[in-house]
Amino acid sequence: MNIKVRSGDTLWYYANLFNIPLNLIIDSNPQVSPTSLMIGQTIKIPGYQTSSYKIQSGDTFWKIASERRVSIDTLALLNPDLNPRQLQIGQQVLIPVQVTYRVVNGNRPYDFQVLMNDINELNEIYPFVRRETIGRSVMGKELVELQIGRGPKVVHWNGSFHANEWITSAVIMQFLNDYLLALTNRENIRGLEINPFYNQVTISIVPMVDPDGVDLVINGPPEGEFGEQALRINQGNTDFSDWKANIRGVDLNNQYPAKWEVDAARKPTEPAPRDFPGYQPLTEPETVAMAELAGARNFEKMLAFHTQGEVIYWGYEGLEPPRSMTIVNEFGRVSGYEPIRYVDSFSGYKDWFIQDFRNPGFTVELGRGVNPLPLSQYDEIYQETIGIFLASLYM
Ligand SMILES: [Zn+2]
Repeated sequence: MNIKVRSGDTLWYYANLFNIPLNLIIDSNPQVSPTSLMIGQTIKIPGYQTSSYKIQSGDTFWKIASERRVSIDTLALLNPDLNPRQLQIGQQVLIPVQVTYRVVNGNRPYDFQVLMNDINELNEIYPFVRRETIGRSVMGKELVELQIGRGPKVVHWNGSFHANEWITSAVIMQFLNDYLLALTNRENIRGLEINPFYNQVTISIVPMVDPDGVDLVINGPPEGEFGEQALRINQGNTDFSDWKANIRGVDLNNQYPAKWEVDAARKPTEPAPRDFPGYQPLTEPETVAMAELAGARNFEKMLAFHTQGEVIYWGYEGLEPPRSMTIVNEFGRVSGYEPIRYVDSFSGYKDWFIQDFRNPGFTVELGRGVNPLPLSQYDEIYQETIGIFLASLYM
């Protein structure tokens, strides 16, 4: 929601008027110098939308404000051209509405377009969410990173490294929405105060690492060469539910230089719906973007969300730091998922992350069943994952 600065206004005044934490208002307006506002300047107020109301006979600002439980001054701010003493029937009045509802609904086929719509809508309501383009998929789709918070501790979550595990993107985005709601409404999640995290932690999120693959699984092959190539790789089968790879048949979670050769020797040697690690490590734009991101951000911990199995992999060749065990035990406690230290599998993002950065890295396998997991499991999976998200912030 946008307002225009009047003489004497301050961001601190807006924070009190709208009951929104000051730091969220400051971060929603990075181009504004908080101590020297200019009259007429536009300020974004996070956590608010507006509704429109038509003046009826007998209305006053006072009456409208008390009926809507907003202060009269918010009406004055939003309607600077209206004269409260000369309201006319039929005039439009903008009313501030504090957002207390989700705009993300993860419980549906969550393809790239749904993701982008949700990101745009969240950005509109919560302008303090920072958005970066970290790369482009093979087909040119934007690989988006979202950042929330100002803390020195950077916690990273990613989803849909594997195409038919797209439910992970939905779960991440819905939790992000709940986190933003808690920040702007000063609410708790599972009894945990959320606002302190804003200054302690920076959350880095790449919700969909393989957007081309996700769209392939959900919507079928695209028109043109990429679609034809994917059909050939899938041996003419138009059902892509078993597809884990990117659009050209490279398994993005087998692409990292952490014993890549060992894995490659026993995996498919040409493009396939799953498990083909590429002809070399890091040949795909999606894997390169994720490697560069880890190099640039100094993640304090990294969680890669996959499906399925209700387990959490947390070790790699003994290179994981001791605190990984403490953290994964907490993840297990809050979710009921089983921590597993080592598995006979290499060249994943988690493996490489632990090897190169020696910080805690986790592959979290949500839910149980056959991928893609049915949406009938969505609510249960979401409930199990909330605790893991939170624990990644406080541990
Ligand atoms: Zn996976």
